[in-house]
Amino acid sequence: MVDDEAMSDVIDLLIVGGGINGAGIAADASGRGLSVLLCEQGDLAGATSSASSKLIHGGLRYLEHWHFRLVHEALVEREILLRKAPHLIQPQRFILPHRPHLRPRWLIRIGLFLYDHLAKRGQLPASKGLPLLANENNPLKNKLKYGFQYFDCKVDDARLVVANALQAQQQGARILTRTACQSAIRQDGLWHVELEDSDTGQCQKHRAKVLINATGPWAQSFIEKQLQQQSPQNIRLVKGSHFIVKGLYSGDQAYLLQNDDDRIVFVIPFCDDFTLVGTTDTEYSGDPAAVKMDKEEESYLLQAVNECFAQQVNSNDILWRYAGVRPLCDDDSARASDISRDYILELGLGDDGSAPLLSVFGGKITTYRKLAETALEQLKPFLPQMGPNSTAQAPLVGGDIAGDSEGAYDQWLHTQAHHYPWLPRTLLTRLGRAYGSQLGEVLADATAMSDMGPCFGADLYRREVEYLLAKEWARSSEDILWRRSKLGLYFKQAEVEQLEVFIRKLTQGGLDS
Ligand SMILES: Cc1cc2nc3c(=O)[nH]c(=O)nc-3n(C[C@H](O)[C@H](O)[C@H](O)COP(=O)(O)OP(=O)(O)OC[C@H]3O[C@@H](n4cnc5c(N)ncnc54)[C@H](O)[C@@H]3O)c2cc1C
Repeated sequence: MVDDEAMSDVIDLLIVGGGINGAGIAADASGRGLSVLLCEQGDLAGATSSASSKLIHGGLRYLEHWHFRLVHEALVEREILLRKAPHLIQPQRFILPHRPHLRPRWLIRIGLFLYDHLAKRGQLPASKGLPLLANENNPLKNKLKYGFQYFDCKVDDARLVVANALQAQQQGARILTRTACQSAIRQDGLWHVELEDSDTGQCQKHRAKVLINATGPWAQSFIEKQLQQQSPQNIRLVKGSHFIVKGLYSGDQAYLLQNDDDRIVFVIPFCDDFTLVGTTDTEYSGDPAAVKMDKEEESYLLQAVNECFAQQVNSNDILWRYAGVRPLCDDDSARASDISRDYILELGLGDDGSAPLLSVFGGKITTYRKLAETALEQLKPFLPQMGPNSTAQAPLVGGDIAGDSEGAYDQWLHTQAHHYPWLPRTLLTRLGRAYGSQLGEVLADATAMSDMGPCFGADLYRREVEYLLAKEWARSSEDILWRRSKLGLYFKQAEVEQLEVFIRKLTQGGLDS
């Protein structure tokens, strides 16, 4: 069934893919006054953009590969993003234990010096060396006597995508989730695009001046299958897995462990009660949607932790595993971990020089904003009416929290505690981090806990679920428990089922979205 009504308007930009890059381009383009439609075949951030190590970082390791451009750009972006979304992105202190047989001290010092100085730092302190004293605050094995401290940032990756989609929508973009792009052809100087509702199979057709391929791990196959063209780049899919265990140690510091194979493994505090461990680099050739952590990766990460931490962990301690595939541009590196994490934007034109196709290959969450800005600059000749970029200054939805000084977020939260004295502190802390200044939208007219409705499990109440279904494109318990939040870590199976029943009832009853 085809909806001919939708044929009437020509869109400036049709974006395929609702990961961080698609959502970031939608936010930038709509802010410049362009008409935008974004389609995502599943949920927003349903693929790579919710499976990252959740860091906004320059990538200390990339210095060893001489990727100075990428590290510089990422460090600049780290500062910008920290200001744009202080609720979703926070400074994270790292300790890098020194293992003399792997890298000499002087080499690490040079690396950290460059890391401190490749871009201007605002809130984040400089790195330093420090002895690792044997006391109750040090969870590492006694053999590790010396370390280095440096700062990066951690991010709620999936919520960063949603915040960009909300930003785009507020600026007039249409966001269609569970909607796959089935085909697109150039005709009469425009893209004729067919979209299909992933649940109902219903089709709709659109015409667009520009098509953006932001399909991440599908970037090459999208060009070959949906567009029936030859891809200008070969993508190498490199799987990375993580696991979560109950908090391995107290304290808010993260660790960067050096491994005997020259790789590094992150150990990061996660959602107050847990520790996140990752990641791996394994060549992958299957369906990106079916990627899973395998036994070898699990043993590899367990071994990395057990090598350095006094407390030992095993398979039974693992509470959650997740995996994703990095869509990297093939640069002929022999080892998967050596392939550049930089992005390439490929611009292709029709025979008459019109109907541009811009494809995103590679990239980091950290560099999504800059990637979007660069993409739109490249498209300026085709969309001369576009306004200037403002994403470097404007806060993201939820991020307009007064001031960008250290402690501004805590002050803001303190004010909210006065405003909502009835909200338990732990719930306020979680909601503040998730929604930032959108908190009032979530709570709406609630003036007491009894207004929040029944609790489904952990501290998830009906009011928040209704908000997520109505305003944030959530459609399933998985969307809510594993991407809009990480409450899945606390939920029992029976509670998940109850939530599902509620979602079914509410969505069948009809909700505005
Ligand atoms: C293990 C791992 C750890 C990482 N850690 C970090 C980190 O700590 N920091 C960092 O900055 N970066 C990190 N990255 C990199 C970062 O996660 C990715 O570069 C980024 O998420 C890619 O985003 P994307 O939007 O290009 O792709 P995706 O997030 O995969 O989005 C592409 C979307 O396109 C959709 N799609 C595909 N085909 C179609 C179609 N035909 N129609 C409609 N929709 C379609 C997919 O469903 C998908 O949601 C990590 C990556 C991995 C794998």
